Amino acid sequence: MYDAIIIGAGPAGLQAALTLGRMHRPALLLDSGEYRNGTVLHMHNVIAADGTPPAEFRATAREQLAAYDDVEIRDVAAQTVTGVEGGFTVHLADGDAVEARQVILATGVVDDLPPVPGLQELWGTGAFTCPFCDGHEHAGRSIGILGPAARAEHLIGLLGPIVGEITVYPVDQTFTAEEVETLSRRRARVSTAPVTALSRIDDGVRIATDSGDQTVAGVFVAAGSQRHRAPFADQLGLHLLPSGSIEVDDFGRTSTPGVFAAGDLAHRASLPGPMAAVLLAAAAGQMAAVGVIQSLMVG
Ligand SMILES: Cc1cc2nc3c(=O)[nH]c(=O)nc-3n(C[C@H](O)[C@H](O)[C@H](O)COP(=O)(O)OP(=O)(O)OC[C@H]3O[C@@H](n4cnc5c(N)ncnc54)[C@H](O)[C@@H]3O)c2cc1C
Repeated sequence: MYDAIIIGAGPAGLQAALTLGRMHRPALLLDSGEYRNGTVLHMHNVIAADGTPPAEFRATAREQLAAYDDVEIRDVAAQTVTGVEGGFTVHLADGDAVEARQVILATGVVDDLPPVPGLQELWGTGAFTCPFCDGHEHAGRSIGILGPAARAEHLIGLLGPIVGEITVYPVDQTFTAEEVETLSRRRARVSTAPVTALSRIDDGVRIATDSGDQTVAGVFVAAGSQRHRAPFADQLGLHLLPSGSIEVDDFGRTSTPGVFAAGDLAHRASLPGPMAAVLLAAAAGQMAAVGVIQSLMVG
């Protein structure tokens, strides 16, 4: 019986494991090897690790965790979580079952991208979503934004002071005249022809439409959505926020006692959505580990 099983070994789960290990609380960290930034070559806006490959970040974290006897890591997917506070069972893809007093869910989310040919291949290297993570690398250069218009406008607000020329493209249907006017007022060029394909060219991206091609330094995707990578919120009947994320309190507690959540799949009700970033996921993982320790001390 572990004190905690942490499902997920991205920044949230790795940090939760470090905090529990340092506090000599036996913890099992599970990793199915599917990371949100799995295609990214260099992560940014991470102090003391700006520009570090995410894979290197995770490898260093694991090396450091190896110094803590109370942390065990298994590279296997969890399939089900059942039980109540004080006695949870996690069934693993290798047929094993493991038990813990508390559970931390840190399984992250998956980006469902719009079905534009070539987009998936560019994801994280030529096509991005987060201005805080990848805006500066496009300073002064031309970029494309794939709409819808309202979300494109938000991205223009963030990227406008950083990049050069911005062209906004619709994804499946063209923009209305009102949307074109609104986007143009934001100093963006607007393509009325939807993007039909993306491809890498030299150090840029070629955007194809039925009215011709344009080459830009990179593409920011305002279209698409996220969903939970793992089914545990449903399995455990956790309360979700309108954003679709698991609702947590300041210590990462969910609506089910003994179940904590941290990282991109969870946020507090005071925020409009998850603040998806490496450091914030790690901070949430640390808070969830503190929450686990608090519960263990009371229990
Ligand atoms: C293209 C792109 C670029 C980004 N660039 C940056 C950047 O430059 N800087 C920045 O701060 N943020 C960046 N981000 C955001 C950042 O990647 C996320 O905020 C961060 O990875 C969230 O961490 P997490 O621990 O919540 O989830 P993840 O990192 O996604 O980790 C989830 C973990 O859960 C595991 N898992 C899932 N299901 C199971 C299961 N059933 N059993 C066992 N394990 C499971 C996975 O294997 C993985 O270990 C970027 C995101 C994208 C999409």
